[in-house]
Amino acid sequence: MSAYWNARTKNLSPYVPGEQPGDRRLVKLNTNENPYPPSPKVLEAIAKATGDGLRLYPDPACTLFREAVAARYGVKPEQVFAGNGSDEILGFAFGAFFSGSAEGAAPILFPDITYSFYPVYAGLWDVPYRAVPLADDFSITLSDYAAPSGGGVIPNPNAPTGMVLPPDEILAAAKLLENQGRVLVLDEAYVAFAGRGLSAVSRIGEHPNLLVVHTLSKSASLAGLRAGYAMGDEALIEGLCRIRDSFNSYTLDRLALAGAAAAVSDEAYYEEANRRVVATRERTARALRELGFAVLPSAANFVFAKPPGIGGAEFFSALRGRGILVRHFNKERIADYLRVSIGTDAEMDALLGACREIISAGAV
Ligand code: PMP
Repeated sequence: MSAYWNARTKNLSPYVPGEQPGDRRLVKLNTNENPYPPSPKVLEAIAKATGDGLRLYPDPACTLFREAVAARYGVKPEQVFAGNGSDEILGFAFGAFFSGSAEGAAPILFPDITYSFYPVYAGLWDVPYRAVPLADDFSITLSDYAAPSGGGVIPNPNAPTGMVLPPDEILAAAKLLENQGRVLVLDEAYVAFAGRGLSAVSRIGEHPNLLVVHTLSKSASLAGLRAGYAMGDEALIEGLCRIRDSFNSYTLDRLALAGAAAAVSDEAYYEEANRRVVATRERTARALRELGFAVLPSAANFVFAKPPGIGGAEFFSALRGRGILVRHFNKERIADYLRVSIGTDAEMDALLGACREIISAGAV
């Protein structure tokens, strides 16, 4: 706390990202990064962009990246927004589409157990929100989102549960929000691991209030590059641009723009890498169940699992002591669960070996 902080700064509750340890010997399964390298075409594109051109500002409109996204999804470049990671896009979306307490706005809705950045953005922009409880089986009850509100944010698959809903159900919720003149932000950070037909992107033309947000951090192995994109009606994209251009004209640098465009254009490479992630996820979930874990059905690149007979915090520490870093959320209802990102097969074998050891020792 500092006397120099204004009231806004004092009142913030900033997001705390998962640990990025300096110790490279740790098996790092805590921030849902992809265990496989980015496409060689991405690295080539970045290398090509490294040179004298860095004297110059990047393209503020992110044209080549947006055109690559448009070509891949069969949408218009005007329906695409590019951002410095999807976090930035989500932050801009809260600012662009959700009204603040000062305006007497109705609360926006998102699940009580979900990506913990959503309440942080609400705090930053002073947007009132209501956290809607997940059902007992941790699924999202979409009919809850029919209530009058200031808008909605739904991650599909949800995090940290990994559970996915059919897009038709989400689009029905989008329609109800459209009737109220509200926006639905659909965060599809993990949809590439959910299987075909689970993204709602192809339906943005039918829903002028639907903003679909994607990231290259997980499915394109580019968490270190910071690139994401959103797709929606041109008026929504223009709203995001108004917020961005009141803040920073160049949120993506030349290297990120080159790499991001190459990544979205190399679908074949990533389909194969992500197919391997999904196969490893299924094998890991089975093995954890055999060890007595309760494992939620995951459509993402992580599993959310409750160890048998040992508390979540305790199991987290026992794994860390054995060189394995996973994510634990000290939060009601999920404090006994661990979120385990899917690594290589060898990394998951190390995890399973450590789990076996901890369980057979009966304690930590
Ligand atoms: N949405 C969800 C649900 C996430 O889990 C994450 C990753 N922490 C993000 C968005 C943000 O990803 P990035 O900013 O790396 O694109």
